[in-house]
Amino acid sequence: MTKILVLRLGHRPARDKRLTTHVALTARGLGADGIIIHGVEDPKIVHSVNRVVENWGGPFSISFCSSWKSFITEWLERGGEVIHLTMYGVPLPEGLEQIRKSDKDKLVVVGAEKVPREVYDLATHNVSVTHQPISEVSALAVFLDRYFNGYEFCKEFEGRDIRIIRHSNRKKKDS
Ligand code: SAM
Repeated sequence: MTKILVLRLGHRPARDKRLTTHVALTARGLGADGIIIHGVEDPKIVHSVNRVVENWGGPFSISFCSSWKSFITEWLERGGEVIHLTMYGVPLPEGLEQIRKSDKDKLVVVGAEKVPREVYDLATHNVSVTHQPISEVSALAVFLDRYFNGYEFCKEFEGRDIRIIRHSNRKKKDS
């Protein structure tokens, strides 16, 4: 099965702690297999995401990389594709068919602040979720939902301790 990993570029612990955690939780919850964070290593994020995986299930991996360029280059050399989410890219509805057609593993890249030009050049697809500036969390969520076509709503997570029991008017958990 095609593997989907997310590469979060340019993590700055002081500014991005919450947002990078939200990128990771969105990646996990909406069906990606793991996240690689480029930037200053931040054990707190790894700890909080791993705690979610322990309680709510997986599999989902989280790691840091020191060079986004080597990571992307090696990913491409191993036969994977890179999908860079950027408001400058091809609108997602236009690029989706081609992306879905390929069964190559996919690395979905999202930035924090300015993304280096080389990322655009290395990417197999530069894809936009509207041409408006939005958040990396929302861009990733829309991409994954469109890519999986709603499959994430019925995804089963392995080894979980907690599960939500659906209910229309109250909170209920099974643990
Ligand atoms: N100004 C930055 C730049 O030049 O790349 C963008 C910063 S934005 C807050 C952070 C990330 O959100 C971007 O790198 C991109 O991955 C994602 N993003 C923001 N708007 C987007 C859009 N309309 N479509 C796809 N991705 C978007």
